[in-house]
Amino acid sequence: MIVLGIETSCDETGLALYDTTSWENGAPAHQGILGQALHTQMAMHREYGGVVPELASRDHIRRVLPLLEETLKQAQCQLSAIHSVAYTQGPGLAGALLVGSTFAKSLAQGLRLPTIGIHHLEGHLLSPLLGESVPQFPFIALLVSGGHTQLMLVSGVGRYQLLGETLDDAAGEAFDKTAKLLGLDYPGGAAISALAEKGQSGRFELPKPMLHSKDLDFSFSGLKTAVLTQVKKFEASGGAADQSALASFHADLARSFVDSLVAVLVSKSEKALKQTGCKHLVLAGGVGANKQLRSALTISGKKNHFEVHYPPVELCTDNGVMIAFAGALRMLENNNGSTTSGAFDIKPRWDLASNNLS
Ligand code: ATP
Ligand code: MG
Ligand code: FE
Repeated sequence: MIVLGIETSCDETGLALYDTTSWENGAPAHQGILGQALHTQMAMHREYGGVVPELASRDHIRRVLPLLEETLKQAQCQLSAIHSVAYTQGPGLAGALLVGSTFAKSLAQGLRLPTIGIHHLEGHLLSPLLGESVPQFPFIALLVSGGHTQLMLVSGVGRYQLLGETLDDAAGEAFDKTAKLLGLDYPGGAAISALAEKGQSGRFELPKPMLHSKDLDFSFSGLKTAVLTQVKKFEASGGAADQSALASFHADLARSFVDSLVAVLVSKSEKALKQTGCKHLVLAGGVGANKQLRSALTISGKKNHFEVHYPPVELCTDNGVMIAFAGALRMLENNNGSTTSGAFDIKPRWDLASNNLS
């Protein structure tokens, strides 16, 4: 069965074709990826310091058809070979979601194919199955992206339980806001991570919010405010006039920020594993590309006897492959039938666990 996946929830237009045949025969899941094409609008939104929803929708309209053609060409596949169309139904920007869902439904109607609406976070959290080391169910998913920070208990495809989440900023949002404070372009997660590598640990005492709280929730807005306080203090001291002092200030502050954020994410993941008795952790979402977080989780896994599974780095941020893959897995559970009607039914706000399979 070949599934077309379409992702348009925010500022990436992603298309992909996933074939379940080899996977159903026991081959590694990533071998089912027949083709993929991705366009990121990052450069377009950069000058505004964040995503402009209307610009995002219009760009998805421009990109989606050429990207489908590119995907088909790469896969050496005809439209007639596609069995079903999976699209991101939510959560995300309403206008952006509408482009993907309208395109998916029109195409499916023309080709008389079933459609399946996919929860964007389900795409993220199943993507580690496409990695080299495949996690066994049940596992804990640490989902850290631009809009979400959640710990989920994943008992199977379509079986999710939310254990904890952020009460304010998402981890990716904290990265992006901190990047802005340090004069880096949007989205600054990867740039902060690179800067932190050059910095010294321990120069700044930044908070580790909710580290010792009994629950599995997070809060990152205070951490960003603490970074702002340090920036203001440094500017008031006149330190910014010296270029090399400014550079090491930025690197050291980035390092302390990453250290604090990673410490909280690792500690809450350990707690979730302990509470549930799970021995497998998967990392998913854009912040899952972060080197420091990956290495801290690997170290903790060795010490605390759990295994950590990562998606391929290029599948951490938004892409069409994760939607095609989640669509394919749901299709297999659903006897290959449609889960959505012909009507527009995007869900800009949508809890993942409310979409569980019975
Ligand atoms: P959501 O999935 O919650 O709807 P999103 O789709 O916008 O949000 P993703 O594409 O999963 O989010 O991830 C984007 C986020 O990941 C951005 O905040 C970005 O800064 C962050 N990010 C990307 N690479 C890295 C990295 N190496 N280190 C830290 N953060 C990173
Ligand atoms: Mg994005
Ligand atoms: Fe995402």
